[in-house]
Amino acid sequence: MDIQTLIREIPDFPKPGIQFKDITTLLRDPAGLSYTIDLLAEKVSELAPDFVIGMESRGFIFGAPLAYKLGAGFIPVRKPGKLPAAVHSIEYELEYGMDRLEVHQDALHPPDCKILIVDDLIATGGTATATAKLVQQSGCNLVGFAFVIELKDLGGRERLPAVPIISLVQY
Ligand code: AMP
Repeated sequence: MDIQTLIREIPDFPKPGIQFKDITTLLRDPAGLSYTIDLLAEKVSELAPDFVIGMESRGFIFGAPLAYKLGAGFIPVRKPGKLPAAVHSIEYELEYGMDRLEVHQDALHPPDCKILIVDDLIATGGTATATAKLVQQSGCNLVGFAFVIELKDLGGRERLPAVPIISLVQY
């Protein structure tokens, strides 16, 4: 199956010059959705993570079923002010300004914490790098990254820590 044919490209969204990769058309396709999760699981299974971390919000959509498939737990990383218990937080740079991501403090505790970070798409790598820092500051073991889509020209992969990085579709 060619996942790329199920991903819709919307020009100039959310602003001029951005080619938005719309995964809702992939999610809507029953065979496409199950194939995507199965392929992610196949490619990361040897990393044997204890937990999958997904970033709000599209990382949740792929991360939770992937965790289920791997027999791992799922940990959400969220935008500020959403998580109810004590959090670790990290600031990171956006194209314009700063943003923050948070994770529950008691979600990440060594030693049994081999972590796989999952998101729908890697562009500059800023979001994934910030999430990796949250994992590494906790003392947990980051075992890899998995993305459905990689925008190669933006060089995100080069900014990530040196662990296995898989992506299913490259542009
Ligand atoms: P970055 O931190 O630059 O790697 O951006 C990754 C995040 O931004 C992901 O969570 C994506 O959902 C979103 N994103 C960035 N660029 C695009 C794009 N062209 N199409 C769809 N989503 C994007």
